[in-house]
Amino acid sequence: MVSTVKRVIESDIEAPAIVLVEPTHPGNIGAVARAMANMGFLDLRLVKPQIFPSPVAKSMAAGADSILRSATVYDTLDEAIADCRYMIGTSARDRTIDWPSLTPAAAMKSIEGVKAADVAFVFGTERTGLSNAQLDRCNTVVRIPVNDNYGSINLATAAMLLCYEYRQSVVEPREAQLSRYEASAPTKPSLQPAPAELVHGFYRHAEHVLNEIRFLKVHPPVKLMRKILRLFNRARLTEEEVNILRGVLTTIEYELDHRGPRTDLPPESGDSAEKDATRSGAG
Ligand code: SAH
Repeated sequence: MVSTVKRVIESDIEAPAIVLVEPTHPGNIGAVARAMANMGFLDLRLVKPQIFPSPVAKSMAAGADSILRSATVYDTLDEAIADCRYMIGTSARDRTIDWPSLTPAAAMKSIEGVKAADVAFVFGTERTGLSNAQLDRCNTVVRIPVNDNYGSINLATAAMLLCYEYRQSVVEPREAQLSRYEASAPTKPSLQPAPAELVHGFYRHAEHVLNEIRFLKVHPPVKLMRKILRLFNRARLTEEEVNILRGVLTTIEYELDHRGPRTDLPPESGDSAEKDATRSGAG
């Protein structure tokens, strides 16, 4: 008798989520699921897949269809990463100016100290990849180095390579990592990167205030904002830091509304006042 119990793939490691943005070929979705299962990744998130579910995806998943069954589908990338804290975007292009790209090994190193469940690897649609706005949601961008004359890798192959690299980074040097990180701070909850949604709210607030104070000179201020975003994305802001920065922005807004001459500073003390006192004492 053929068993009707569906096999559920389990993992032997803790691994990030895989986000596929607008995948067009169901075969690729299935092949990504298979690669994920091989490497111990279980959390597949699909943003507006063109065809899903699909028998083609199931057949390409080759037994890893539990990953397809538990995959979650979203309308936007923002929704797909709402509970994530560190996003790694992927791109075939070497966008040196706006997004300096890391090698896969360097990207894996950049995750250290962040819980795997808070990390997402984000892949673009087959023909055009991730848009600039989608890359803006990522803390860093990784490019798999390939032949200069033919840089674009099949979506599922790219997913396999990154999942493999991640696996190597946690499985092989596990002992070394443990001894290095157990005693150190990054795993403390207070030092975890803030949720994507909070950070995005801060960016919107920052853009609004920079506009109010007429720092931004063009509309929309895409290039400059991107540089500012990149700076903060690199910093891997914690929730507390986001709150402090939002406090700064709110104070600026308040001051713009209520500004008068500043009268709250105490008279100067410190060096020069002390020197004066010494001088008169000696005199
Ligand atoms: N012209 C697109 C190619 C899209 S290929 C681009 O410039 O990105 C579909 C997806 O596969 C990409 O969005 C990316 O997620 C992944 N991919 C393809 N080649 C890659 C590479 N060399 N490095 C990293 N990811 C790659």
